[in-house]
Amino acid sequence: AGTLYIMATPIGNLEDMTYRAVRILGEVDLIAAEDTRHSLKLLNHFGISKPLTSYFDHNQQFKGERILQALRDERSVALISDAGTPCISDPGFNLVRAAVAEGIRVIPVPGSCAAITALSASGLPSDTFTFAGFPPNRQGKRRAFLTAMASQPGTLIFYEAPHRLEETLRDMGEVLGERQIVVARELTKIYEEFMRGTVGEVLATVAQGKVRGEVVILVAPGEAVEQETEPLPELLHRLLHDEGM
Ligand code: SAM
Repeated sequence: AGTLYIMATPIGNLEDMTYRAVRILGEVDLIAAEDTRHSLKLLNHFGISKPLTSYFDHNQQFKGERILQALRDERSVALISDAGTPCISDPGFNLVRAAVAEGIRVIPVPGSCAAITALSASGLPSDTFTFAGFPPNRQGKRRAFLTAMASQPGTLIFYEAPHRLEETLRDMGEVLGERQIVVARELTKIYEEFMRGTVGEVLATVAQGKVRGEVVILVAPGEAVEQETEPLPELLHRLLHDEGM
């Protein structure tokens, strides 16, 4: 069978495309993209002209089967999403799972991911973190979701739509308490910005004016969480040394 490449593309700055990604796009038989019109701009920028097919949430089953058939027919396929890494709050998981189940080779081609990009420059603890993805849109479900996340050790990372940022920060303040947070906006783009402070402080800034552009919200571990959970290095040390393992 052919190879399925799961390929990251830039989250804003085209210079973040890797040499390897450009080379592989030039070599594959088919490119499956979340939004073909959106991805055409990227492909044109790098002078790549290849058969393109769409693969998004609502045609996954049907398109997934056609992509699998192409792979069975010895054709190689690259899956890309609109921005960043496929499968990370983007389509891809079902296709990868099906390919793995059939023994088709799946090769990741790493690159940008908004969550990791934001975490790396956030200044928040980065040894342990939870990627929570998008909180639910409805307030009741969102609060329940945040409550479940509250006891996770390490930094919490959320994606959010800019028009829901304010209401989500309000719920975070109420459910998670006054933790330190970072809102990373427009990463890798001209207006890249990191808003740092307590939930209340950042909320005050956000409430003043419209926050435009894409955002990642990072929440520092709560004090209660830190006290309750033994940090991993200490835990490992204790297990390895005190208990004679
Ligand atoms: N697969 C992508 C990745 O690897 O990061 C994420 C796709 S998800 C549909 C889109 C969300 O990612 C946005 O709502 C935002 O939370 C975050 N995001 C994507 N690009 C971003 C950027 N340049 N700056 C800040 N957040 C970004």
